[in-house]
Amino acid sequence: MIPLLDIRAQYEGIRTELDAAVLETLASGAYVSGPRVDAFEHDFAAYCGAREAIALNSGTSALHLALLALGIGPGDEVITTAMTFVATVAAIRYAGATPVLVDADLRTFNIDPTLIERAITPRTKAIIPVHLHGRLADMEAILRVAERHGIPVIEDAAQAHGAEWEGRSAGTVGAIGCFSFYPGKNLGACGEGGGVVTDDAALAATMRQLRDWGQAGRYNHVRHGFNYRMDGIQGAILQVKLRHLPAWTEGRRRVARIYDRLLSGSGIATPARPLGNEHVYHVYAIRSPARDRIAEALAGAGVATGMHYPRPVHLQPAYADLGYRAGAFPVAERLAREMLSLPIYPELTEAQQQHICGALMRANEDIHERVA
Ligand SMILES: *Cc1c(COP(=O)(O)O)cnc(C)c1O
Repeated sequence: MIPLLDIRAQYEGIRTELDAAVLETLASGAYVSGPRVDAFEHDFAAYCGAREAIALNSGTSALHLALLALGIGPGDEVITTAMTFVATVAAIRYAGATPVLVDADLRTFNIDPTLIERAITPRTKAIIPVHLHGRLADMEAILRVAERHGIPVIEDAAQAHGAEWEGRSAGTVGAIGCFSFYPGKNLGACGEGGGVVTDDAALAATMRQLRDWGQAGRYNHVRHGFNYRMDGIQGAILQVKLRHLPAWTEGRRRVARIYDRLLSGSGIATPARPLGNEHVYHVYAIRSPARDRIAEALAGAGVATGMHYPRPVHLQPAYADLGYRAGAFPVAERLAREMLSLPIYPELTEAQQQHICGALMRANEDIHERVA
C-alpha cells in the first residue's frame, strides 16, 4: 500500500538528530516552554522573514489568539472561505464572533477574492484567507479589498509553511500568520503544535500574554488568558525538523512536477500554479467529476487517497446554525465532490508515482468509455 503520507519514513531519515534532541530535553527538565521553544521561535521567525514568532500548542490556538489580539469578539463578523478545515471557523466561534463564509475559486481552491467585498458589513473585523493545500490565496486582491475597508487580514497558513507570494513568505503578508505543526503538516511536531508570526510588536506581546494565562510577569494576570503553551520536547523536535524543511519542500515540489508531467494530456485537472505563487504542496489534489470511482480504483491498486475536504464547512451539521443551505457556495460544493488528494511526501519514488498515475489514468479512461 502506498500511503497518503509517510511520517515514519521522515523519522527514519532524521532519527539520530531527533532522538538526541528529545533525550536532551528530557534530561533538561524544561518540559513546557523553555530554551528549546525560545530557540525554535527564533529560527521559525527567521525562516518566515517575520520579526516575531510565538510557539503555541496548536494551529487552532494560533487562529484563536490572532483574533483575540485584534480585539475581535461578540458582535463582530469575520470573513473566511467555505472550503477549509473546520478549525478556521471554530476559532472564529471561540472568539465569540460570527463566521461569514465566502465561496472558493475553482482554479486555486482558495477564497474567491471577487466575492469578499459584498460579504463586508460594518461589523466585519477581519478576513481570514486560508492558503489551502499549500498555495497562497490571491493576496493582492484580498489586501486591496481589506485596505479599502480598513479590515485586518489574518492568514491561515496551517498548510503553507514556506510557501511564497511575490517573494513574501506565507504568514507575513497579513497582520498575523497562523501555523499548525500537527504531525501531518509540512513542518510537524511529534504531537500537537502551532504558532503565529507577526511584525507587530504590540500584537506579539498580547499573544505572548494570552498563551500563558494572561500573565505579565508571574502571577500578575492582566488578561483573561489560556494555557496555549508549547511543550519543550515539541520545540526541540521542531527546531531540528525546521533545518530540513527547505529540502523537504523541494522534495514535495519535485513529486508535484512529476505528477504534473505524468498526468499532462490525460484530461485530469492538476493543481494550478498561478504566476509568482510558490506552492509547497501540503496536498496535491487533482479534480475529476468521477472522483469517487477513481479513488475506488486507486484503493484497488494499493494507493491511498484523501479528500481535503469532502464537505464544505457550511454543510457540516455543527455549523448548520450559520444558516447556509446546500447551493449557497456552488464552487466549494463542487470542489468537495471533485477533489482527490494523491500521496505526496519527499520520500515518494518516481516508480511509485508511475504506478499511481497509471492506475489513475486507466480508471479515468474506463469511466469515459462507460459514459460514451
Ligand atoms: C490543520 C489546520 C488547522 C488547525 O491546526 P491544528 O494544529 O490541528 O489545531 C487550521 N486550519 C487549517 C487550514 C488546517 O489545515
